Amino acid sequence: MKKSNLEKHLVACPHCGKQVLDHFTQCPHCKGELTPSGYTGKHDIKAQQKIRTVLFVILLAVALFVLFVLPNITNP
Ligand SMILES: [Zn+2]
Repeated sequence: MKKSNLEKHLVACPHCGKQVLDHFTQCPHCKGELTPSGYTGKHDIKAQQKIRTVLFVILLAVALFVLFVLPNITNP
């Protein structure tokens, strides 16, 4: 069971053709550069990026509020 699960993440190295895990960024056989695909979960990364974008927008709004709106309220 464990072996078949591992085989799902095996891809052929584009440089030497040997089997490497798809999350490797470098081939352990020929040290060639690899493009990792999946494994860490693309959905999680997309969700994290979405959360980061939302947080950034909120932070920006708060920063703009503190910089431009608060001084007008406290110092009329
Ligand atoms: Zn290789």
